Amino acid sequence: MKLLSEHYIDGARRTIGNEDIVRVLDAATEAPRVDVKLGNASDADAAVRAATRAALDWQALGAGKRAQYLLAIADALEARAADLAQDISREVGMPLKLSRRIQVDAPIAAWRATAALAETFEFVRHVGHSRVTMVPVGVVAAITPWNYPLHQITGKIAPALLAGCTVVLKPSELAPAATLHLIEACEAARLPAGVLNIVSGGAALGTALVAHPDVRMVSFTGSTAVGRKVAASAAGDMKRVSMELGGKSAAVVLPGADLQKAVKATVASCFLNSGQTCSATTRLIVAREAYPECRALLEQAAAAMTLGDPADAATRIGPLLSATQRERVRVHLAEAERAGFDRIAGGPDAPVPARGFFVAPTVYGNVAPDSRLANEEVFGPVLAVQCYDTVEEAIALANGTPYGLAATVWAADDATGAEVADALRAGQVDVNGARFNPAAPFGGFGLSGMGREGGVFGLEEFVEPRAVQSP
Ligand code: NAD
Repeated sequence: MKLLSEHYIDGARRTIGNEDIVRVLDAATEAPRVDVKLGNASDADAAVRAATRAALDWQALGAGKRAQYLLAIADALEARAADLAQDISREVGMPLKLSRRIQVDAPIAAWRATAALAETFEFVRHVGHSRVTMVPVGVVAAITPWNYPLHQITGKIAPALLAGCTVVLKPSELAPAATLHLIEACEAARLPAGVLNIVSGGAALGTALVAHPDVRMVSFTGSTAVGRKVAASAAGDMKRVSMELGGKSAAVVLPGADLQKAVKATVASCFLNSGQTCSATTRLIVAREAYPECRALLEQAAAAMTLGDPADAATRIGPLLSATQRERVRVHLAEAERAGFDRIAGGPDAPVPARGFFVAPTVYGNVAPDSRLANEEVFGPVLAVQCYDTVEEAIALANGTPYGLAATVWAADDATGAEVADALRAGQVDVNGARFNPAAPFGGFGLSGMGREGGVFGLEEFVEPRAVQSP
């Protein structure tokens, strides 16, 4: 078995002294894949020092030259795309063909799209007699989760580097493969030493990084529970924070909408990556009179979700990341059973492959608005259906959780859909199946976080405006 025992600091591989290890298993076979050594506070300090030393030269290089490095990293990642897709699929459980498109090709495109912003982003603006310069915020600590590992890393690192910041990345210790490929890509791109430092570790290393006095911004993606701790620690010395947290996103199906299309798309979104998606639509909100038809459609749609090995072309849903994640989901299923919700598909006893961290695609109807299932992120393939009597009630249900990451609206016409979308407290709302726009801002209201990633909005997060007034 492989041992991941190095950080990437100051342009070089550094052996991790600490002996603490986390074992990463193949999500579908449970075979051990790699042991990951976990760094500690002194590693965080070494990485932050390297980033601090590299900061002035990187800033002085200018956005055009920085963009060239981003493009070189994209090229190097592309050369590793097949291995990346395979590795992420084995770790996280996403079917291989989806893994290539969503986990690998999309982030590579994002590296390139971010590089292109060097041409259009106004680093210097004029407001009356003020010259406003967009100054890099300083050393950034980027902390990311495991569910879309390369995507989440890219959403922070690419704009931070283009803005002129130097970075210490602490990716999730539970999905390390993407990081190993990224280190190789930085080496292939000959990224100057210290510009991007990558440390391997868990909560202890993350905590030290966030508390480090020379870090000026923390860009965090992960659970709301950890996000709270990170934001509280960062507040001590006024570090800027950007928080991409959990969600409980709703699909609102208005009267007259194409119910079949809405059900199909909602099921696909909810079960994508086995439900391990922050913006998954995990609640379906339908008119009470449409419930019987909706129920039948959901039964069919869930039955079509073939569970199996992510490498198998017929597989629509793979396993969850780990036994821990599966256990978390099982707790929610047990509670939904106790609450007596209408089980439409799946459930705790539904058959799943004997090996691998599988949970059957599950749908519950008549889910009470005040229940845990209606309000808490499950992070597994579990859809909750809620019924409304009036459109006002549908909007209230959609807005009725502490989260506000994403939503979809299905309506008889796009204009009506857009009107209801405007009433939703969510950072991303798709009407009638509109496709994802990577240049649009991505982020949440409420407990889903603060700040945005994506396109120019993501870049703005990493700059500090300085206004110089001349007479
Ligand atoms: P997590 O919060 O457990 O961990 C996220 C990262 O924080 C990991 O790198 C982890 O090692 C680190 N960490 C843990 N404790 C820490 C601490 N005390 N201080 C600093 N760092 C610490 O989340 P996860 O289980 O890896 O990911 C799943 C969560 O991420 C879900 O809640 C999901 O909704 C959320 N997520 C949000 C988005 C978004 O864009 N809004 C995207 C993907 C995932």
